[in-house]
Amino acid sequence: MKSFLICFLIIFALCSVESGSLAMAQNQAQDQIWKPELTEKWSPVPAIVTSGVGSMAPSDAIVLFDGSGLSSWEAVGGGAAKWKVAEGIVTVEATTGDIRTKQLFGDVQLHLEWRTPAIVDGEGQGRGNSGVFFHEVYEVQILDSYNNVTYSNGQAGSVYKQHIPLVNASRGPGEWQTYDIVFQSPVFAEDGEVVRNAILTVFHNGVLIQNHVELTGHTPYIGPPKYEPHGKGAIKLQDHGNPMSFRNIWVREL
Ligand code: MG
Repeated sequence: MKSFLICFLIIFALCSVESGSLAMAQNQAQDQIWKPELTEKWSPVPAIVTSGVGSMAPSDAIVLFDGSGLSSWEAVGGGAAKWKVAEGIVTVEATTGDIRTKQLFGDVQLHLEWRTPAIVDGEGQGRGNSGVFFHEVYEVQILDSYNNVTYSNGQAGSVYKQHIPLVNASRGPGEWQTYDIVFQSPVFAEDGEVVRNAILTVFHNGVLIQNHVELTGHTPYIGPPKYEPHGKGAIKLQDHGNPMSFRNIWVREL
């Protein structure tokens, strides 16, 4: 019995030494296989883009409004966009209706600067209301949300009635504010079935307020969201009756 035990211990010790040296050999082999260049990718080479000064358009952007006129826009109701352009700024001309881009877009990065009236008029949804819509139906709310109570999923930076902004990054009335939005269009199958929801990220005045949120459909005033299949679409700005101003609007197709 005693010799059996000694025998077992010797075999066990030999096996341990063997497996230890095997592991060491494997590590050495891995070190030999994994050289730095094996995880380097040299193609494709990203295109060179010259960034704009400050928030001005980078070299590969499509400028939608640079202060000179509304040639890239049209009235949703038909005909030319009738909002007022003066001193490099465009301001909603109430009752002339929403305006939209003539060009149609799919997935985009959008930069937009907006300003609510310096003189506060109205409250809640009636104070400094506009909106930027992708495909004309998915709204990121524009509102004077500086000390202005309304429903949270309808305040500035909300995906209207779907996603409350992470924080309220609003500046005061009359101050210029920025939106930088990444919008990924929904994907539809041939039979109209939604393959992937729309996805959206928003920075408001440089602050992340929507982080890769999924939209469950369009953003109606009344009723639940739903999807209707579509291809590319216009970007729309809302006339909500308030004299909202915009400047420096550009988009990059993704
Ligand atoms: Mg609105």
